[in-house]
Amino acid sequence: MIRRLRFNSSNRTGLVLSLLIAVLLPVIILLVAQYRSLAGLEGKTRAAVQENLRQTLQSFTRLVVKKAEALATETLGGIDPADIEEERFDRIADRLSSIRQSHPETDLAFVVIHCSCRKRNFAIFATPEGVRRIDHDHFKRTPEAQSAIETYNNAALLRATASSSPRVLFEQSHCSNFPGAKIEPSSVFIFTPLNKVDGEGQIGFAGMTLKASYIRERLLPRAMGELLGGSGDDSSPVISVLDENDREVYSNGSGLARHEIKMPFSPVLRQWKVGIGYRNTTIEALARSQFRQNLLLIGVAIALLLAGLILALRATTREMKLVEAKTTFVSNVSHELKTPLSLIRLFAETLELGRVRNPEEAQEYFRIINRESRRLTRLINNILDFSKIEAGRRQYQFAETDVAEVVAEVLQSYERQMTNAGFEAQTSIQPDLPPSLIDREAMAQAVLNLVDNAIRYSDQAKRIEVSVRLHGGDIAIEVADQGVGIPKVEHQRIFEKFYRVSTGLVHDTKGSGLGLAIVKHIVEAHHGRVTVESAPGKGSRFTILMPSVRSEAPEAAPESLSPDAALGAHTSGTASTASMGGYSVAENPHH
Ligand code: ADP
Repeated sequence: MIRRLRFNSSNRTGLVLSLLIAVLLPVIILLVAQYRSLAGLEGKTRAAVQENLRQTLQSFTRLVVKKAEALATETLGGIDPADIEEERFDRIADRLSSIRQSHPETDLAFVVIHCSCRKRNFAIFATPEGVRRIDHDHFKRTPEAQSAIETYNNAALLRATASSSPRVLFEQSHCSNFPGAKIEPSSVFIFTPLNKVDGEGQIGFAGMTLKASYIRERLLPRAMGELLGGSGDDSSPVISVLDENDREVYSNGSGLARHEIKMPFSPVLRQWKVGIGYRNTTIEALARSQFRQNLLLIGVAIALLLAGLILALRATTREMKLVEAKTTFVSNVSHELKTPLSLIRLFAETLELGRVRNPEEAQEYFRIINRESRRLTRLINNILDFSKIEAGRRQYQFAETDVAEVVAEVLQSYERQMTNAGFEAQTSIQPDLPPSLIDREAMAQAVLNLVDNAIRYSDQAKRIEVSVRLHGGDIAIEVADQGVGIPKVEHQRIFEKFYRVSTGLVHDTKGSGLGLAIVKHIVEAHHGRVTVESAPGKGSRFTILMPSVRSEAPEAAPESLSPDAALGAHTSGTASTASMGGYSVAENPHH
């Protein structure tokens, strides 16, 4: 049996080890791989967020261009090329004046015709001071015309790299020389080329300016409104526009931590810059927190996995222990059955053959036969009871009963055995106890199991105390011994089926591991509970607490059930003490 036990425990260690290797190793590899992939993902997240911000900025810039182009088409697009070719100056001047009047954001609107293909060049400027025409003879000497041509050439040069030839050109200049017009610094020039009536070749251009204040207060907010479409919240990025001195001229929100991307605001506002970032955070911080979150999730998943593994391990270990306990049980029970049977046969045969020297010897043999047959009966009863409990077929016949009477009967039936085993039993039964609703036979079996254990697990101190008294509203049946005791860690487990303490002196006492499991089942079926107070070498006290029929206890004050109530101390009052001498432990009813 010992060999089998060793084999089983090495089996269990093997199982634990293989489970650890099979699960922990892949988990560690997975963890390392996940950590590395998360670290890589952090870099990729940073790049992806940056790209996203760049695209947002580009969309914003495109929207600003679209709006400026729409304005140019609406205003300058209304200039008729036929009026220009036929030099209808009044109509052109009227058109330019009406542009200025209907668009207060414009300081200056103008048409400049200069082409080598024409005999006569001219320019017309509409300013807040009125309309001014510059004809061919003064064209080259007028600063306004030259300034307009220069600014246009600049704008054309800047857009020369554009893939398709643009219909509208832009230039932002703060050093324009238009003496007749007061042009705000940082104003934007918008140009549209003017072609001949037949569309063949450019003969000049039309232009207008947009005030910086209009750009700040109208153009940029409208483009932003269109970009966000009302979806802006605290987590959406902040776009800000900086002027040539890096001063913020516009922003769609406050609390910008830093510009993650900054680029020239071309082509419309090429002297300015546009930047984008997040409120109170940076891309690094975002990527880091994402990384931490992912790591935490993986951590939680692994913790759950490990918890599951531990639970599975515990369940498996428990299952294996149960299998082990069952095996031990079978071997113990066969021994428990064989020993009394062979003793009974031996002494019965001896008696039958008349091989006794004197009547005392015959009497002794009868006593042994009686003791061993009782032992057999108890064991078989326990096994039958246990199998009924396991199958859910154990039935109880509850009736109002005097518990003290049941306990007294059990002790009486056991008295001779205790005397023979040399035990001194002290009984203390409180008078006038209320009845309790119990199954008489089952309760007797529970008490018998406790008394039997007290005898079997007592060493040199052969003293047993049994008391029945009122504890609160309950009836307490206490069985205390001064035997080997039970370590605290085992207190819970001794009530499990097949469980036996395998350390210390207990090891020498044979048993099935069913007695206390049956006690617990019986007591719980009576809505009661069983407790144990014990320490190695200091004896044990088992207490069954049963609800009484009268839940109030009128006279009796509850007595303490704590271990401090001195294990083994004599109780007073109605205590009746029976002192019995005789057998040693080796000769107790089980051995
Ligand atoms: P068994 O047949 O082994 O006695 P039980 O279920 O009655 O089975 O008891 C379970 C275990 O509890 C015993 O193996 C023993 O280790 C411990 N035990 C029970 N009663 C006592 C006691 N009075 N003193 C010391 N140990 C006890």
